[in-house]
Amino acid sequence: MGVLLENCSLGDGKVGSVYVDRGLIERISDGPSYEAPAGTLKVDGRGGSLFQGFTDSHCHPFEMGWLRRNVDLRGVANVTGIRLRLQTAIQRAAPGGWVVGRGWDHETFPGKRLPSREDIDDVSPENPVALARVCGHISLLNSRAVRDLGLEGRQGPGYDRGPGGRLTGIVREAAQDDAFGRMPARSAQECLDDLTSVELEAVRGGLTTLHCILSEDGFREELQAFAMLADQEDHLLRYRVYIPAQAVDYLAESPLRAKLTGGKIRVNGVKLFADGSLGASTAALREPYADDPKNTGILRHSDEELGELVEKAHAAGHQVIVHAIGDRAVEQAIGALSRVSGGGNGRRHRVEHASLLPRDLRSKMRRHGLRATVQPCFITSDSWAAARLGEERVNDLYPLKSMLEEGIVASGSSDAPVETIAPVVGMWAAMTRGAFALGERLPQRQALELYTRNAASNGFDEESAGLEEGRGADLTLLDSCVEGMHPALFRKVGAAAVLVGGKVAYTFEGG
Ligand SMILES: [Zn+2]
Repeated sequence: MGVLLENCSLGDGKVGSVYVDRGLIERISDGPSYEAPAGTLKVDGRGGSLFQGFTDSHCHPFEMGWLRRNVDLRGVANVTGIRLRLQTAIQRAAPGGWVVGRGWDHETFPGKRLPSREDIDDVSPENPVALARVCGHISLLNSRAVRDLGLEGRQGPGYDRGPGGRLTGIVREAAQDDAFGRMPARSAQECLDDLTSVELEAVRGGLTTLHCILSEDGFREELQAFAMLADQEDHLLRYRVYIPAQAVDYLAESPLRAKLTGGKIRVNGVKLFADGSLGASTAALREPYADDPKNTGILRHSDEELGELVEKAHAAGHQVIVHAIGDRAVEQAIGALSRVSGGGNGRRHRVEHASLLPRDLRSKMRRHGLRATVQPCFITSDSWAAARLGEERVNDLYPLKSMLEEGIVASGSSDAPVETIAPVVGMWAAMTRGAFALGERLPQRQALELYTRNAASNGFDEESAGLEEGRGADLTLLDSCVEGMHPALFRKVGAAAVLVGGKVAYTFEGG
């Protein structure tokens, strides 16, 4: 059955209608309506703006769903807040069972002190507890968890120690992954439930496609969940999947692979890590942190190791995307990716985040045709950015306008659950910015491009999306006309209807 979107703003003051059939945009007409065949489903746009479908080009749907089932610490203002939410969770937990959570941010606490295991030990003497910071790069463990995981004798930079060399309970990066890796795994069915709970939130936000990052320890169950979803024909969104390095051989030999190459669910590539996060002061910088002069962050690999990981993923046919936030890490990622990018970077290898990106690194990226995904919400959330980097260096943090104008294909994303998955909030952040580098504010057209044209291109989806006759009908209809809208108002805009592959995935009227 065809779908007719009537009374839509199509830009340049034009009101038109779009007729969709068999998954394609059949006709874009100038009038507010169009003589469509009998039986056509009509959606009245009421003058709202219509765009090609929005894509979130970097998010963690399994983490989002998992967070709903566990201790959500986003927004807690101090250690007492952590204790209160933990207390509620402990009451529901199985005796001696793991209690996990995520979302605290000590940068917003009085004195900005990192919490320690003493802060939570009396709340949970029997259940092992692991609570990740909002960035997901550092975690707080209680004493029971330290004991159960056998961490007391561990050495290395990832284990914070206090007076007398005692572990504080804070673990970072690889040490944290090691701890989480030894907890009981989620089942494939739990992963599927998490994924479907996120799907509705994403489509309500106007998204048609998600680029999904899988976890390093749960990827088997997560891939299985995608394969189960592929069997359910009525799922709503398009998924582009990025697996960790450990999964490359596993997937090559797995029978799941055949189910994960379709138009709606497809494994696109491999995600690697170069460094940590700025919030946790683990992003690798060329010069030390302004607020911690002995610290330059943590590189996860030597240049040679990262280069080999990139080569292996590339040789297996994958698009390679490398998490790099600090300028030292971005430089390392560019070096590794340029080993395989050739002249035009036909495989569309990307740097994820590319947060601290001074001019010399931007021109290197452009020279090698490397792409980027950016998270505009970080700009408004990172209130501590100038303190971490200093007044001068912070001007090179998230330089979105310079990136686009200098020819880097950058796509927008939320990194959810780090930030809200709603793409209009990302666009709003890209247009308004917070407190620094205000010259890098984007005009509305470019803010939209981050989530439309550039995001489709960064996921090899230019055929399924694009507001043109003959293209695939992935479409997002907003509830207002945004042409000329003041940037500050943009975050209040909602989605009125979403079409994926020509099918109505969501309308706010439930039609
Ligand atoms: Zn991420």
